[in-house]
Amino acid sequence: MDREVGDSLIFILVETRTKVSYNHLMNTREEFTLSVGSSVTGADLSIKGYRFNSGVGPKIYIQGGTHGGEVTFLIFKLLNDFLSNNTKWQGSVTLVPIANPFSWNQRVHYTTVGKFNFYDGKDWNRAFPGNKEESTAERWADVIFQEASKHDFVIDLHTSRLSLPFMIISREDLVDEMLRSGILPTYLASKMDKNFPLPDAIDNISKKGITIECGSHDSMDTKNAQKCFEAILNLLRINGVLKDGESLPETSTAFYFKKYDSYFSPESGFVEYIHPLGQQLEKGETLYRVNITKNLGEVLEIKARENCIIMKYQPTHIATVGDEVVSVVNLSDITKKVG
Ligand SMILES: [Zn+2]
Repeated sequence: MDREVGDSLIFILVETRTKVSYNHLMNTREEFTLSVGSSVTGADLSIKGYRFNSGVGPKIYIQGGTHGGEVTFLIFKLLNDFLSNNTKWQGSVTLVPIANPFSWNQRVHYTTVGKFNFYDGKDWNRAFPGNKEESTAERWADVIFQEASKHDFVIDLHTSRLSLPFMIISREDLVDEMLRSGILPTYLASKMDKNFPLPDAIDNISKKGITIECGSHDSMDTKNAQKCFEAILNLLRINGVLKDGESLPETSTAFYFKKYDSYFSPESGFVEYIHPLGQQLEKGETLYRVNITKNLGEVLEIKARENCIIMKYQPTHIATVGDEVVSVVNLSDITKKVG
């Protein structure tokens, strides 16, 4: 009898401690800055971050804005609101919404030209894991990598031309996890052997790194932001951060593919887009038109070579001969579809 009473007491104590760990008092939100050097005018250049922490549990790092002009801020706003107003999470989630002050300062009139470094022409996201003794990009990448590599799972947010949102992984063993998150198409890209993007550099130290292309460049599309936010919440569930059970989507729009089929402009001219992104086309349907500038009145109709889904358009109506105008995924290249 005494023993039964003792067991119950222990049980109650454990329960109480469990509840306390999800209390607002234990889940903290801390702001921090990372210095990445200084400008020629002498001002500090730094990055702002936000860390949500419960003390123990999985560590997730979510970053955006490596490339200037890639607006993913709405997704960070949704994550910030969710983690601030919800107590049922554990571990730590670090948010760095705009990671690169250098690329965001590369402005030409109204356009932020932040994919490539103006100094050496290299992609800002090919400098990882970085080097604190060498180029600006490598010094910046070193600061980012030191922070990101403290975590178990790194999610790097980008945008792509005019695009549907999709995930990029470079490890086949992550396919099932991405498909379980249930919302976004997943592209398995080939792994780089040098000049790594952040997720590949993270994979190389036996942690987990993925990219989410969150939609179109320089966009504030609330539907795409919501979709990416929900995909990230599902990844947080799968990785044990959210404690509201495995309430993953029952139906899914996710699919998995290994290659794009690209359509290059056969002549220079002005492009007319006919279909919305995500449209499924039959082989032989008109994909887009080019008004050829060397011959006023001549219009080329470019036809779909296969049954396909439109994933990306170039973010302009102006095409020089050979420009990649449209990227599609052929239905025959969809390896796995769920839902
Ligand atoms: Zn990018």
